[in-house]
Amino acid sequence: MTPSPTPPPPAPAAPVPPADTRPASITVRVGGKPFRCPCGCNVFHHPGGRTYVYECNACGTWFNGK
Ligand SMILES: [Zn+2]
Repeated sequence: MTPSPTPPPPAPAAPVPPADTRPASITVRVGGKPFRCPCGCNVFHHPGGRTYVYECNACGTWFNGK
C-alpha cells in the first residue's frame, strides 16, 4: 500500500432528471428543511389542482399540506 499522489476523483454528480412535462413541480420545505418523500423523491405536484395536497412525483404518495 503506497500513498496515492493524486486525490480520488470527485463523486459523480447526481443524475439530472429528464425534463418534467407535468405542470407545477414543487419542492416542499418543512421547518426550513427540504421535505423528502420516504421513497427519496423531493419533488411534488398538486394532484388535480388540489392546492392543499402534495403528490410525490416519483411514487404518487399524497401528503396533506396546510
Ligand atoms: Zn415518493
